[in-house]
Amino acid sequence: MERGLNTKCLHLKESEGKSENYGAISFPIYQTATYAHPGVGESTGYDYSRLQNPTREHLEKIVAGLEGGTDAFALSTGMAAVTLLMDYFKPGDHFVVESDLYGGSIRLFNNVSLKNNYEFTFLNCSKDDIEAAIRPNTKAIYIETPTNPMMNVSDIAKISGIAKAHNLILIVDNTFLSPYFQNPLSLGADVVIHSGTKFLGGHNDTLAGFIVTNNEDIQERLRFLIKTTGAGLSPFDSWLIERGIKTLGIRMEKAQQNAIEIANWLKKQPVVTDVFYPGLEEHPGHEIMKKQARGFGSMITFRVDTKEHALKILSGVKMIKYAESLGGVETLITYPTTQTHADVPEEVRLKNGITPTTLRISTGIEDAKDLIFELEEVFKTL
Ligand SMILES: *Cc1c(COP(=O)(O)O)cnc(C)c1O
Repeated sequence: MERGLNTKCLHLKESEGKSENYGAISFPIYQTATYAHPGVGESTGYDYSRLQNPTREHLEKIVAGLEGGTDAFALSTGMAAVTLLMDYFKPGDHFVVESDLYGGSIRLFNNVSLKNNYEFTFLNCSKDDIEAAIRPNTKAIYIETPTNPMMNVSDIAKISGIAKAHNLILIVDNTFLSPYFQNPLSLGADVVIHSGTKFLGGHNDTLAGFIVTNNEDIQERLRFLIKTTGAGLSPFDSWLIERGIKTLGIRMEKAQQNAIEIANWLKKQPVVTDVFYPGLEEHPGHEIMKKQARGFGSMITFRVDTKEHALKILSGVKMIKYAESLGGVETLITYPTTQTHADVPEEVRLKNGITPTTLRISTGIEDAKDLIFELEEVFKTL
């Protein structure tokens, strides 16, 4: 019987029934850089921790299991994961990319990847004609759904159909929903990216990134690249992320419940002009989300009537922190214009809808009444 996601967050089937590690319930941190050879020309399979580390491998197996991949790679950050993946491609390759992507990924593509002679076409993948953007040298489609920060929803299965018809690799950054709510590989994607810093780690205390795939060729090449370029996650950080994952399910459910309450509260505020939360029935991506995901997540983007009000909300919150990042147990509010998306050219930002009145909330697991009380206190001053 296929185990449920909450069980998969806690138990790795293949290491069950063995009496290794003194029966420790928590998988040990193998804090070692190197390993002794049993004899000349012999190896235990562990030579050097850039290549192999039991703690990192244990975590990778858990994440691969959650996403339904054949392999996962744990990297030092989400951006290290995207960077490693981009090394899989060759000079001259073209990519069709979601334009409302995490700002750091856009910065990487526009400022680093271009020197490898990569070409990019940025599209609103929830609306625009992807097929029309495909060229003879197109190698991959790179999407996020829902997007950061505008919460646009793309149909993964539909885009995977286009990718397969043109022999392209479909890459999905699944950070916003985590494997608890969405599994892009099961919808036809070839590669899943995660910033493990966010929901997987879940405590706003550790940076990490993941690549998950079920494509053998990509898997083999990435194993070589990670050994060669060396951005693998440290043993201690691997352990912290694994500990975070143990509570992924209950955190996702509680944060989502808080998001639903806050999204509905925001809708009723006279200063709020727009609420972008796919859990709201009127959200244009609501039906697609119901089809391809098991939840709507805990990210809410909203707009207020003036920039002054947006800034006043940021400076007025106390328990809710004005900070970048998302997916942790603490509720955070951010200002994409000057934070996560500061390096995205202004005209692109505005075209995507990231106006100076746009704010983004990542709900944590506090009591909803306390979050709403805090927002009420701040909104009273506007
Ligand atoms: C944060 C984030 C990243 C980058 O991850 P880091 O761990 O900060 O390097 C990539 N994609 C999305 C959607 C993110 O939110």
